[in-house]
Amino acid sequence: MTILSLNSYAAGKWVAPSGRISDLKSAVDGRVIARLGAELDFERMTDHARKVGGPALRELTFHQRAAMLKALAQYLNERRDALYELSYDTGATKTDSMIDIDGGIGTMFVYASKGRRELPDDVIYVDGNLEQLGKTGAFLGQHVATSLQGVAVHINAFNFPVWGMLEKLAPTLLAGVPAIVKPASATAWLAEAAFRMMIESGVLPDGAVQFVAGSTGDLLDRLGSQDVVSFTGSAATAGMLRSNENLLGNAVRFVAEQDSLNATILGPDAAPGTPEFDIFVREVHREMTAKAGQKCTAIRRVLVPAEHQEAVIEAISERLAKTVVGDPRAEATKMGALASLGQREDVLEKARLIGSEARLVFGSTDGSRPDGVDAEGAFVSPMLFSCDDPDRAENVHSVEAFGPVSTVMAYRDLDHATALANRGAGSLVASVFTHDPQVARKVVLASGAWHGRLYFANRDTGKEATGHGSPLPHLVHGGPGRAGGGEEMGGIRGVMHYMQRTAIQASPDLLTGITRSWVKGARTRTGDAHPFRMTFGELEIGDAIGTPWRDVTLADVEHFAEFTGDNFYAHMDEEAAKANPFFPGRVAHGYLILSFAAGLFVDPAPGPVLANYGLDNLRFMKPVSPGDRITVNLIVKEKTPRNAEYGEVRWVVAVTNQDGEQVAGYELLTMNAM
Ligand code: NDP
Repeated sequence: MTILSLNSYAAGKWVAPSGRISDLKSAVDGRVIARLGAELDFERMTDHARKVGGPALRELTFHQRAAMLKALAQYLNERRDALYELSYDTGATKTDSMIDIDGGIGTMFVYASKGRRELPDDVIYVDGNLEQLGKTGAFLGQHVATSLQGVAVHINAFNFPVWGMLEKLAPTLLAGVPAIVKPASATAWLAEAAFRMMIESGVLPDGAVQFVAGSTGDLLDRLGSQDVVSFTGSAATAGMLRSNENLLGNAVRFVAEQDSLNATILGPDAAPGTPEFDIFVREVHREMTAKAGQKCTAIRRVLVPAEHQEAVIEAISERLAKTVVGDPRAEATKMGALASLGQREDVLEKARLIGSEARLVFGSTDGSRPDGVDAEGAFVSPMLFSCDDPDRAENVHSVEAFGPVSTVMAYRDLDHATALANRGAGSLVASVFTHDPQVARKVVLASGAWHGRLYFANRDTGKEATGHGSPLPHLVHGGPGRAGGGEEMGGIRGVMHYMQRTAIQASPDLLTGITRSWVKGARTRTGDAHPFRMTFGELEIGDAIGTPWRDVTLADVEHFAEFTGDNFYAHMDEEAAKANPFFPGRVAHGYLILSFAAGLFVDPAPGPVLANYGLDNLRFMKPVSPGDRITVNLIVKEKTPRNAEYGEVRWVVAVTNQDGEQVAGYELLTMNAM
């Protein structure tokens, strides 16, 4: 079989291995798969990213970048089989590869969709609400975020060569920031293949992504205040890299996701025989064996009520005994190999450290290989320990054996369980198997501060439960302390790591100009044509219409009450309404006011308004009494194209009474033809 030569991709060109070349070996049989080594001009690469990639990405709106992510994800999705094939030699089974490859592509799809739905078709992100800073509203505050003008350096771990790359690239590219990707060497052939596909797709502008197959040389010394380092790997490497003097001196953002001694808690209510007990056992087994335990989120510590310790050990061991370890290509195989012989040595050594405090109840730590596997392969058996004194033990809470290794520990009560979970000194995730909401709340209060994610599963969560160990693009992935103190993904939160938040203070007109979202107090424009007669393209932010007046009578209120069946006393019973501190007497229904407002501003003939699809932020500010008059102001606040045929228009609607007081306000959403 030919040995792959892993190229780097620098300043728009593929660069063959050079300098110190390393052989990369199959995790399954030890044969050389690929060679890598890079002596790259990092000044040129950072320059190319900053001067070519960044400006090209910043030219695109969030929606255009989202479309790009979708196209990339589709391109990769159609080529998954080639990636699965390369993945076997990393030791991964097909199921493991799906976590990595499909998981990574899925993450990109989610970011594409979130970018289109949750970000504007613009290049400025409006963050949070408007802050009124004075009495009249002539001076306002608003946070916005804009793309960093530097480069993101992604340093990835060996365990998820595809997911690790895509889960960082998706939010980075959506933010409009170019990236230099450095995969972990041990599995770099798979990362390179996926990266090569992205370049071949032609979807990305020049300079948007570059690839380092080998050492990062002096790259970190070249970074500045507009750059970001996003790292996944060991705590030791993270500590070394984040203390780089240049990074510290320039306050370069450093996002770290590192070791984590994740716990799972079998709830005090989840005795053997309950559905929670069974789900728990399945989950522990899955977390131990998926990716041969090489997941940053895998369960390392299994916390169980003391009285169920033996039942838990028995149930997990029973499942482990049925787990076929072997060639990941073989259909019967349930657990493949570790990523390299080096990892195997490391895992066995760490397992022995854990073994000094806990008894081995399943598997072996002596290096004997499971039956029928290649002696050159990085195979180990799953190893389950039981620790009788978890309070005094140290290693079980601090040594991460990055393989199929977990330790069962008994707890006395829930306080003890959460205290033990927190001994991880900051973790990515903890899971709890309980059917009791009180238990769930107690765990959140006691352990939330120590964890980036808390996962609760029980008989109700069923098949929809996504799994203890699966980070999701929608949710935060990261954790405090030992886990690195970083945060990745979490939906649009993850995009913000690559953008700068800026507080803007300005007048309503200037803010409207900056954000392209009409702000109260800003200029409006009233033309001859009713805005409902204007197409999406013709409408402009601030286009407005004021309506004629309408009287609100007692007969209207009674008619509405009878017609809808809403005979609430505030509308129908003068005495009772008067006794209510909010009303002067009988008042009009809020929904009547809404309906009258629509009657006042709607232009009825067929035209470019295709549909009214909802209201946001509706408030009834003052009661309207029979005898009052109302008028409506309708202003175009925002426009968001949805496709080639139509776009969403967000209107500010203000209903005012004869005294100039606003009685109701809301935002109306319509779909308008282009
Ligand atoms: P490392 O921390 O050694 O490597 C992580 C990444 O950092 C790799 O891409 C590596 O590249 C790179 N790197 C290492 N040294 C430098 C450097 N001086 N400058 C720039 N980049 C560098 O982790 P490993 O992948 O070797 O795994 C070791 C341990 O880390 C595991 O056993 C496990 O305990 C933990 N780990 C935790 C993960 C998590 O997600 N929490 C994931 C993976 C591992 P290269 O491969 O070329 O050395």
